[in-house]
Amino acid sequence: MPLYEYLCRDCGAKFELLRGIAQADDPAPCTECGSPRTGRLISLFAAISDGKMVVGSTGCAACSSHHCAACGLHG
Ligand SMILES: [Zn+2]
Repeated sequence: MPLYEYLCRDCGAKFELLRGIAQADDPAPCTECGSPRTGRLISLFAAISDGKMVVGSTGCAACSSHHCAACGLHG
């Protein structure tokens, strides 16, 4: 069963729920304040993957075996 993340519009709390796909967009009461005004957040998997690529140890796209002015990893 997929894990969905929700944000409370009243208190700002984030919480996760295991729900069926059919229930993903149904209202979910806030676990902190009980407010029904919550919204589902879009999965962050893509952004996290991009972040790992960016912080990888191979330097920036312009890097080669010699000096790279963009990131300074070489030279
Ligand atoms: Zn709340």
